[in-house]
Amino acid sequence: MTPASDLSVSGPSTGHDTTVRGRDVAVRLDAVRRRLRAAASRAGRDGDAVALVAVSKAFGTPAVMAARRAGQVHFGESRVQELVAKAGEVDDGVRWHFVGHLQRNKAADAVARCELIHSVDRLRLAREVAARARRASKVQRVLVQVNVGEDPDKGGCAVAATPELLAALDGLAGVECVGLMTIPPLDVDPRPLFRRLRELRDEHRERFARVAHLSMGMTHDFEIAVEEGATIVRVGEAVFGPRPPTR
Ligand SMILES: *Cc1c(COP(=O)(O)O)cnc(C)c1O
Repeated sequence: MTPASDLSVSGPSTGHDTTVRGRDVAVRLDAVRRRLRAAASRAGRDGDAVALVAVSKAFGTPAVMAARRAGQVHFGESRVQELVAKAGEVDDGVRWHFVGHLQRNKAADAVARCELIHSVDRLRLAREVAARARRASKVQRVLVQVNVGEDPDKGGCAVAATPELLAALDGLAGVECVGLMTIPPLDVDPRPLFRRLRELRDEHRERFARVAHLSMGMTHDFEIAVEEGATIVRVGEAVFGPRPPTR
């Protein structure tokens, strides 16, 4: 029998059995928070200085609500349409992060919903986000996504082009760049790449004082990222369980 406190959570529009339980989400979330704090203390850091973004892509709104009830505040999505749909269904206490590749024609929707856009990696996109934010009378906080692994399959601005993009953002009304983000390639040791992102931030700290955050680390490497200075980790499967297959 299913206890009443359990919640059936299904992924959106898939025929697969993607049922997870709300209680499981709460238990997993607790385990992730513990691991995060432990990693922080190994590095002599305060675990409270690291924000956990629960990446809910491919999981349904009930999964988001289960995590929300367990105290989770920050949620991430990698498709704007999916973010907009979920944001319309959950309560105001949720703060949304956009972590995926952003197309310029989706910038307005992302700006309307997001506390932080993690994936600004080119000037044309930065200009569009800024214009949309000004129109919405908002200052949109963003991160510059850097391709520190020089992975041709990944988005992100080249390391060498980062200072120029930071300088351009600095001069754009409507956006504020508050840090850097990276996604390492799957097949390499992420630690040197996380370290490189931190060094890159430190190199530019004097000129761009607000560029302070490091968004790095996912389910398989968030503890390493925290040891290397992450201030934001983006964790999906460790919070919600195995991700249902998407199209
Ligand atoms: C999906 C995704 C995550 C979370 O991945 P998990 O392996 O489920 O933790 C983090 N960041 C980005 C950019 C993603 O697309």
